[in-house]
Amino acid sequence: MKDLTPKRDDLDPIEIASRDEISALQLKRLKWSLKHAYDNVPFYRQSFDTAGVHPDDVTSLADLARFPFTMKQDLRNNYPFGMFAVPRDQVSRIHASSGTTGKPTVVGYTKNDLDVWANVMARTMRAAGTRPGDVVHVAYGYGLFTGGLGAHYGAERLGCTVVPVSGGMTPRQVTLIEDFGATTIMVTPSYMLSILDEYRAQGRDPRESSLEVGIFGAEPWTNAMRAEIEQAFDMHAVDLFGLSEIMGPGVASECVETKDGLHIWEDHFYPEIINPETGELVEDGEMGELVFTSLSKEAFPIIRYRTRDLTRLLPGTARSMRRMEKITGRTDDMIILRGVNVFPTQIEEQVLKIATLSPHFQIRLERKGRMDAMTILCEAMAESAGGDERGAAARDLAHHIKQMVGVSVTVDVAKPGGVARSQGKAVRIIDERPKK
Ligand code: ADP
Repeated sequence: MKDLTPKRDDLDPIEIASRDEISALQLKRLKWSLKHAYDNVPFYRQSFDTAGVHPDDVTSLADLARFPFTMKQDLRNNYPFGMFAVPRDQVSRIHASSGTTGKPTVVGYTKNDLDVWANVMARTMRAAGTRPGDVVHVAYGYGLFTGGLGAHYGAERLGCTVVPVSGGMTPRQVTLIEDFGATTIMVTPSYMLSILDEYRAQGRDPRESSLEVGIFGAEPWTNAMRAEIEQAFDMHAVDLFGLSEIMGPGVASECVETKDGLHIWEDHFYPEIINPETGELVEDGEMGELVFTSLSKEAFPIIRYRTRDLTRLLPGTARSMRRMEKITGRTDDMIILRGVNVFPTQIEEQVLKIATLSPHFQIRLERKGRMDAMTILCEAMAESAGGDERGAAARDLAHHIKQMVGVSVTVDVAKPGGVARSQGKAVRIIDERPKK
């Protein structure tokens, strides 16, 4: 793989500023953001007043911890535009979350917000090793989902040639990557695996493709998956994090030269980690739930938003800004099986250890008697794998999961193509337990 480390001169100066400079900028922006929210959004005025806190009382970054959290339900209660801090005619664009678990969460951006977003996204792509002039294939979905348009404007801002393909029609994805000579691809890691299958189905060698960098996000994925994709395509696989409530993609990103967790663009998004049960702050380095406060957003300021994503904060390396470790999962994706907490990412790591299994998998949960039972649905790598070989792979995987994750599971190994393919965010859990 090529060395794609960006030149230091090309970075935004704040990326490599001193911690003191970063903190000073954060404090100035935090005061502005809290006041902007308090003055313009009735929800924040009421919640700050109820908690007995006021933006004017903030003298240090630590004071933020006295402010109340904002939850997804608060955004739903204010559907559609109740959380906006500017008149509707100053909102240039609307995005929304999928809304599969209730009313969609609506977010808005002023012209200035869109400008900041394009800048942090361009910064993200540069960190991943993309350079001006690169051909960028965007296979994130376009539309209300922030993935497609977020990536798109970042790539334009960096000075790339953008190919706005969106998700789906996998054979065409491969044709366009090859015909247009894409050097960067932006897509969910699970959909990249579908694209990999398609390369093989078309008899093309993925290692011969023009791709040099994959910027993968929108769902949890492991370092084992990184190794799988890097090996298959002979390309860098870099992690990208974001969520619509905070901005969209481009909140945090790995650097291609280190790939050691995601640098949070802390000049715009202030992170905290809390104990999800007590709401208390935990020290940097400790696992917990990620909480974000926007520092510069005009249309949709967001204060102490509980993301439900689990990670920990680490000091900066390639950049001065702090890193978050690769996300383990969301609190709502945690499965409790006979008292043991299990995340789909832990299963992913084990599936990828078995060379005769493809990387596609799903987890089925059922109620057997009074107990929950977990079945891992996966598939053989080779068309030729017979019943004996698949049985051996199943036994191996069940053994690894028992050893490493600590739970007993059933493993079902299908023929190649037997597991549903992702077209965007992977559906990892099929929950067939009776609803309470
Ligand atoms: P939703 O999925 O709620 O509709 P978004 O589309 O804004 O909302 O997705 C944001 C969520 O996607 C994050 O809160 C996180 O759970 C997940 N996510 C995004 N990027 C990553 C990543 N790189 N690693 C793990 N999870 C991610």
